[in-house]
Amino acid sequence: MTALRDLLASNLEGVERRLAAACARAGRKRDEVTLIGVTKTVSIEVAAALVDQGVLDLGENRPQELWRKAALLPGHVRWHLIGHLQRNKIDRTVPLVRRIHSIDSLRLLEAVEAVGQPVEVLLEFNCSGETSKQGFAPTDADDLVAVLRGLSRVQVGGLMTLAPFEDDPERCRPIFVQLRRLRDELRRQVGDRHPLRELSMGMSNDFEVAVEEGATCVRLGTVLFAGLPEEESG
Ligand SMILES: *Cc1c(COP(=O)(O)O)cnc(C)c1O
Repeated sequence: MTALRDLLASNLEGVERRLAAACARAGRKRDEVTLIGVTKTVSIEVAAALVDQGVLDLGENRPQELWRKAALLPGHVRWHLIGHLQRNKIDRTVPLVRRIHSIDSLRLLEAVEAVGQPVEVLLEFNCSGETSKQGFAPTDADDLVAVLRGLSRVQVGGLMTLAPFEDDPERCRPIFVQLRRLRDELRRQVGDRHPLRELSMGMSNDFEVAVEEGATCVRLGTVLFAGLPEEESG
């Protein structure tokens, strides 16, 4: 366990150094960016060790795995659902999460509103146009304005996107710029009804570029768990 702790501490130190440098380049403060540890590939023990290192925001992409880990990890962990939410899993997920990052259709947005509990969500945009990815198209933004004005319980905290994997993360920059402009435009049109503050963008491969372009949440898995023996992941 000491080896696990040392490895996580050292990975985290490297990530923090890179986050701080990216914030400095962009003239931003480190506390404007939340580091979400994505625990989908690791065991409860590894996730718990990450919490012990002070990473209190954790993300899972499958609702069932989020339920399972949330039941076993300390109550002060803030859970983020970052993958597709099936409508029959909404009721059980909403009470457990700090935020749902992955509202990828109008149907899902309306179903979450219908649950009748206050919850913060992010709208997932497919900015790259890849057919393998879920989410709203940038051209849907105009139609979303009226929908957002009509919501009474769901709070739209901002937008989320996944950039394609690129060997050179610079190539992801236009995607992050586009998401920021979409957020700014929606905020301008929707007004005060929703905060529309957050930009959830940036993963292990591209988080520094995302921070330079305004990310408020980066979702990191691989870079935090690099070097773990096989039996401790999955
Ligand atoms: C797995 C996952 C991540 C983390 O990806 P890494 O490249 O391992 O950092 C971030 N966001 C989403 C939506 C994911 O599914």
